[in-house]
Amino acid sequence: MTRARAGLLHTPHGIVETPVFMPVGTQATVKGLTPRDLADELGTQILLANTYHLYLRPGPDLIRAMGGLHRFMSWPRAILTDSGGFQVFSLSGLRRITDHGVVFQSHLNGDTHSFTPESTVDAQLAFGSDILMVLDECPGYPVGHEFARAAMERTVRWARAACAHFEKQRRELATRHALFPIVQGSMFADLRRACATELVDLDADGYAIGGLSVGEPRPLSLEMVEATEPLLPRGRPRYAMGVGMPDELPEYVARGVDMMDCVLPSRNARNGCLFTSAGAVRIKQARYKDDSGPLDPKCACYTCTSFSRAYLRHLFQAGEMLYAVLATLHNVRRYLDIMRGIRHAILSGGYPEYLRAVRAAPVENE
Ligand SMILES: [Zn+2]
Repeated sequence: MTRARAGLLHTPHGIVETPVFMPVGTQATVKGLTPRDLADELGTQILLANTYHLYLRPGPDLIRAMGGLHRFMSWPRAILTDSGGFQVFSLSGLRRITDHGVVFQSHLNGDTHSFTPESTVDAQLAFGSDILMVLDECPGYPVGHEFARAAMERTVRWARAACAHFEKQRRELATRHALFPIVQGSMFADLRRACATELVDLDADGYAIGGLSVGEPRPLSLEMVEATEPLLPRGRPRYAMGVGMPDELPEYVARGVDMMDCVLPSRNARNGCLFTSAGAVRIKQARYKDDSGPLDPKCACYTCTSFSRAYLRHLFQAGEMLYAVLATLHNVRRYLDIMRGIRHAILSGGYPEYLRAVRAAPVENE
């Protein structure tokens, strides 16, 4: 038995079949892909955009004036935005945390800004996101129990403030938005459980598990999900933020996760690491120089059905733009194909067998 589930997430911009992987469009674009590719070629139902980046540039007011993020980037399907918390803690220079929020310096020009639980809700409403995230404090790894507890308790207070503010705003809006609080607690199961218990009281539309993939060993990330997930309401979506590698996706799903996102498929594509059904391909390796075969014979994407490994390697070596386009198209397709396979296995009752088979398969990471 596993805790895997398949579901349908209804948003104002379409239905999302879960479990789902959300490609990351940091600057309101998945680097290298047109929204048409994402929708038509890849069948993407939901993507993620970063509040921190879009808040700094071009700014929520401009995006609102342009008709919201969907219209601005010409993306008709669902959008989830993070709260910006993770980037404030990982990207920005000087920052100061208070109980009201966080004051930070832009990584672009050093200007001082502040995020509060209320202001990040407002920014995401200006974007017109379908799913908003609350401001959270995401500690690095490792941190001590006391530090993690303080960050977790602040995250809970911020979540309460964000939810209260969101409820007020929501009454005046014509469209339906959802707001997810984020379970924190670093790598301490007792803090994760305490956080989840507090957040469940908020009766939110869904719940995220944050603070994963911050440098901890992978078994620990999975352990934190196992500590958290049974406390979350079964009727609401669960979102594990910032995970994972291709072979980790089925593991999170097996632990009751419905939604995931990660920059890996697109970032690794640009760096020359391509995920295939037979393991990872480092396209710059000399062995692919005169390889006339497709990147992944089992993949039906445009890249794999049209081009050879030799051509992809040539484009990579020559630093051609088309390399990034074709590589990203394939890697994102690979992730979405994995998720479609997972969903199919769950619905047909064969998920335990699916899990056994993928655990025995070659690792795609290296
Ligand atoms: Zn492909």
